[in-house]
Amino acid sequence: DLSNAIMAQDEMGRPFIIVRDQGKKKRAHGIEATKSHILAAREVASIVKTSLGPRGLDKILISTDGEITITNDGATILSQMDLDNQIAKLLVELSKSQDDEIGDGTTGVVVLAGALLDQALELIEKGIHPIKIANGFEEACKIAVQQLDDIADTIDIQNEANDTNLLKAAKTSLGSKIVSKCHDQFAQMAVDAVLTVADFEHKTVDFELIKMEGKVGGALKDSQLIKGVILDKDFSHPQMPKRVENAKLAILTCPFEPPKPKTKHKLDISSVDEFKKLQTYEHEVFTQMIQQVKDSGANMVICQWGFDDEANHLLLQNHLPAVRWVGGSELELIAIATNGRIVPRFEDLTTAKLGEAGVVRELEFGTTRDRMLVIENCANSKACTAFIRGSNKMIVDESIRALHDSICVVRNLIKDNRVVYGGGAAEITASIAVSEAADKQSGISQYAFRAFANALDAIPMALAENSGLDPINALTAIKAKQVKERNPNLGVDCLGKGTNDMKELFVIDPLIGKKQQLILATQLCRMLLKINDVIISGKDEY
Ligand code: ADP
Repeated sequence: DLSNAIMAQDEMGRPFIIVRDQGKKKRAHGIEATKSHILAAREVASIVKTSLGPRGLDKILISTDGEITITNDGATILSQMDLDNQIAKLLVELSKSQDDEIGDGTTGVVVLAGALLDQALELIEKGIHPIKIANGFEEACKIAVQQLDDIADTIDIQNEANDTNLLKAAKTSLGSKIVSKCHDQFAQMAVDAVLTVADFEHKTVDFELIKMEGKVGGALKDSQLIKGVILDKDFSHPQMPKRVENAKLAILTCPFEPPKPKTKHKLDISSVDEFKKLQTYEHEVFTQMIQQVKDSGANMVICQWGFDDEANHLLLQNHLPAVRWVGGSELELIAIATNGRIVPRFEDLTTAKLGEAGVVRELEFGTTRDRMLVIENCANSKACTAFIRGSNKMIVDESIRALHDSICVVRNLIKDNRVVYGGGAAEITASIAVSEAADKQSGISQYAFRAFANALDAIPMALAENSGLDPINALTAIKAKQVKERNPNLGVDCLGKGTNDMKELFVIDPLIGKKQQLILATQLCRMLLKINDVIISGKDEY
């Protein structure tokens, strides 16, 4: 390719060719490449390791434009890090896929992947081929997953009246988050939200129906779950009632305005009389519009457009509380929820097209003058909105993430009520199983199995370390106890409750989430071990 070549002459007049080289094109190859990837990935994993568990620490992330995020959610930390290493970005993807599928355990999966890579690096240094390691890890992962299947417990969640198990699970997942002060309240919100939309028969939870809305101001404890639609609006006139029972909603996309003359017509007003006439005409049009609304049986108006003072006043006089400037998508949501139809012209309005809601009320917040409208007990939908308050945007955002995580835990339990125990208990029992299997292996895979077992130990060790315990002592003690007592429920007592029995403490993780962590981390590790050539294209320099 000569397009980036230039002819030049040296001082003796002899021609030579300068190839404007792939100045920044980089290439790494072979075992060295594999090693350097592992080091990069390890670096990333070590960042999130300290936020694992109930005693994990939060991180402050500052974006390039100065926006601040405080979080301890692995997926969020990673997604906001400005990484220029390609391999490190794969870890970001890893926690994202755990987030998408399961919604919880995003920190754990990265810590586990980091530990697996650490172990792989040691084996590579012993001269074992990366592919062999990858295959061994995959086999070991199957054994670990099988072990989790074998020891999984089922918890009772079917009994809707008695949702304490779901509540306890939601609470556990909130334990490490900013909202831990309002533990009970947020756990209750998570459970209520999921139960409102859950379909127990098909074991599904439609997430689309759970909305999260945050508003800065007030305190976390002012957060609430609203079983209906919430609108960032208020009634159009301060004297309208703040509450409408048995609301029949006219949902309009036509404005309360007299028809406007088109541009090609000209309106000439040259005398007071003519002006008066126009005024009367406008008044008549408004009156007719309002009459049409009244005739349909509506007792409330939701309008996509504005209306002027005259119309507003008439609405008030006619006892038609109204909300104006409601956005298109909100209008749709209201229509779906209340079983109403969006009406484009006043003459189309009929009783059948009205939306129905048990109550529409204005929410007022303490001393602030903020107001919001809540449409509850809607005719059709089970939709609900978690409405989060907090003193600043960072807290509101992190609380929404925390609530999302615990909603995911509850949802996962409804999908599949099998659980394993947390605090590293599940990882330790899987580690023991894999070690035992290693004894029966011959050759290289024995090393890979042992390495895999060691990597599993990284989770309880990180939990212990973050709780201020000696990680090695804690791990060996619990492991010995698990083997001796044949009890797979023993884990790290992070909060110093005086027992290692996680079943007693009700520290659970949904089985599907824990299995997914193992599978995803192993997959990522396998992928990295198989890459032995990286070519990063750079821009040519001129
Ligand atoms: P992730 O984003 O991976 O969910 P977390 O910071 O929420 O990370 O930590 C989850 C880990 O902490 C899990 O391994 C869980 O078993 C453990 N854990 C949570 N609560 C407790 C507790 N009270 N005691 C011991 N371990 C706990």
